[in-house]
Amino acid sequence: MARSRSTLTPEEDRLTIKVLGVPYDTHSSYLRGPALAPPVVRTALNNGSANWCTEDGRDFDPATGADWTDLGDLELPDDVHAATALIRSAAAKAIADGSKLLSIGGDHLVTWPLVQAMAERYADLTIVHFDAHPDLYDELDGDRYSHACPFARIMEEGKVGRLVQMGIRTMTPHQRKQADRFGVDVLEARDTEASVPALTGPVYVSIDIDVLDPAFAPGMSHFEPGGWSTRQLLVALAQVSAQGVEVVGADLVEINPDRDVHGLTAMVAAKLFRELLGLMLPRSIG
Ligand code: MN
Ligand code: MN
Repeated sequence: MARSRSTLTPEEDRLTIKVLGVPYDTHSSYLRGPALAPPVVRTALNNGSANWCTEDGRDFDPATGADWTDLGDLELPDDVHAATALIRSAAAKAIADGSKLLSIGGDHLVTWPLVQAMAERYADLTIVHFDAHPDLYDELDGDRYSHACPFARIMEEGKVGRLVQMGIRTMTPHQRKQADRFGVDVLEARDTEASVPALTGPVYVSIDIDVLDPAFAPGMSHFEPGGWSTRQLLVALAQVSAQGVEVVGADLVEINPDRDVHGLTAMVAAKLFRELLGLMLPRSIG
């Protein structure tokens, strides 16, 4: 159970997590669908089949006054410039009072404007990025705003301190060059001994659901076999948590409900949602 607000320090009392749905997939390269995810994840969270506790026993049941607020979904136009400007300004507004932000995508392009807002507020941000794909293409099929490009856009702006990628299993020569150019720490899925490296805060966590093997989460656009189990991802999140770094924001992207089977991926996303809330809220409060 969350501690009563009356027992919190003034600094803790101001701390809230805001949840934002970012339904945008206009620049997905293969399939549309992730724009449908935010309401599907909410439905999974509320379907009554699971409780609201994290694995370490913190309760985020909104009915008992947990420390998060749902801002609902953004209304976004197709135009990428207009949409990303809206995402960036909504994120900046959400974190302006010191709140943390959990965003539900959308495809991975949404991470670019979300991180722009984060980097504006937090100097020397470290991004911990879980994905099958490095998403470092300078352009894909002539599109610099493809969901395969957001980490190139982020790193070339030079506002982020460090990018750590885990679960990668689709590295290309071009993206290897990009990773070297930007000094990205890439930990590949084939390195099964890899663990989360030592981090300094503040930290932003970005989870592309296809870091998981499609067997664990079929509701994704790009089936890339050889991926992580759900447990491996939870262990990695616990490794971030154990370091005690401040996690100021997170996103959960690339869930494609059109490809899901029995709502399984939506339930995986709901579990990750709760664990990300726990990761962002200091243990002393939750
Ligand atoms: Mn991605
Ligand atoms: Mn991916």
